[in-house]
Amino acid sequence: MDLAGLYQDVILDHNRSPRNFGELANASGSAHGRNPSCGDEVTVWLRIEDDEVREVTFTGSGCAISKASASMMTQAVKGKSRAEAAALFELFHGLVTGQHSVDERLVGKLRVFGGVARFPARVKCASLAWHAMKEALGTPGDLHEDPAR
Ligand code: ZN
Repeated sequence: MDLAGLYQDVILDHNRSPRNFGELANASGSAHGRNPSCGDEVTVWLRIEDDEVREVTFTGSGCAISKASASMMTQAVKGKSRAEAAALFELFHGLVTGQHSVDERLVGKLRVFGGVARFPARVKCASLAWHAMKEALGTPGDLHEDPAR
């Protein structure tokens, strides 16, 4: 696959019309991320109620991969519990780094980012908003509560 193959229609669409773009006035958490090697910047805003991500938005600017990834991240984690959102982060991270094989059915539309693993310089672009989302979720210790409770 060449670099052009990375820019699938769904990525171009989310870059042109990012979903959930803008500050969240009543956010319960936010986090900022920068990728100096590409110039991408993102801030992710979350509103969590009853352990559910009720709203998630982002602001910032950057390359097509970083914007599309942020846009699709907001769609993917909305409505998820904090533990589910953190688990999705791990899946996505595995997908874009190619560190371990990921069942593509589990990641749904996000599988379009699987090609990023072949372009190491793009991994940070694709994962930037996800790292910010995970940071905005809160302290990692809180995420290891028994989900059965
Ligand atoms: Zn980038």
